[in-house]
Amino acid sequence: MSQESALALKRRARKINRELAELYPYAHAELDFRNPFELLVATVLSAQTTDIRVNAVTPGLFARFPTPLAMAQASSVELEDIIRPTGFFRAKASNLLALATRLVDEYDGVIPASLADLVTLPGVGRKTANVVLGNAFGVPGITVDTHFMRLAKRFGWTESTDPVRIESDVAALFEPKDWTMLSHRVVFHGRRICHARKPACGACPIAHLCPAYGDGEVDPVKAAKLLKYELAPGQEELLARMQADVANAAQYRQESQLAARTGQASDPVGGHS
Ligand code: SF4
Repeated sequence: MSQESALALKRRARKINRELAELYPYAHAELDFRNPFELLVATVLSAQTTDIRVNAVTPGLFARFPTPLAMAQASSVELEDIIRPTGFFRAKASNLLALATRLVDEYDGVIPASLADLVTLPGVGRKTANVVLGNAFGVPGITVDTHFMRLAKRFGWTESTDPVRIESDVAALFEPKDWTMLSHRVVFHGRRICHARKPACGACPIAHLCPAYGDGEVDPVKAAKLLKYELAPGQEELLARMQADVANAAQYRQESQLAARTGQASDPVGGHS
């Protein structure tokens, strides 16, 4: 597909987005949150770890420190202790303290709804700002995380490895109204099928649109075993619930992750990344 024209690329990109929408009608932000502050903090914590691990920590964190003011007054030792399972906990705790303090001092404890303001906050880069804008404020944004970077490259949407350049290359292929959901779908696909080391090409519904088909396992039976989360073998019931009740899919996912944490199910996500 190296000879693909700009128009053909745009058409193929939009087809991928449509097919991913059919595959993941329940795609959503996988970090659990109830307000912009919680999403901002959860996104800061998600650096270098999985959303599952962050979701395990945030209920306790927000029960103890529900507002920027409460968090600004936290002791760093207690904060570090609560967020320890997310890794890099000293740096993250210090970022959260500085972040909460800035929010209180400069924004009256209210999360700003602009990219320009968000990226000035401690520990908040463009990716975090776009997550918060897109999911807490409804402002279209493309979230370029590790999954999105990998898949955008495999799809042939960009040649770049620079997140800002990738964001602008992909933005040029889609209408702004599609950016936020596109980001969720691509990340869902990256976590479930198009893995970093061994993409499950043989079980990939969009293989016919992908120039990187063959980078991973092409045998359908072997590829099916690589699928994760609700697509993993043995997770048919969870998948059926999420498909049948798209509006509550996040809740079903949360319940299945909670069940895994409390030992009620052996492996409801089929592994994670
Ligand atoms: S065909 Fe393979 S590389 Fe392409 S999207 Fe599917 S899993 Fe990923």
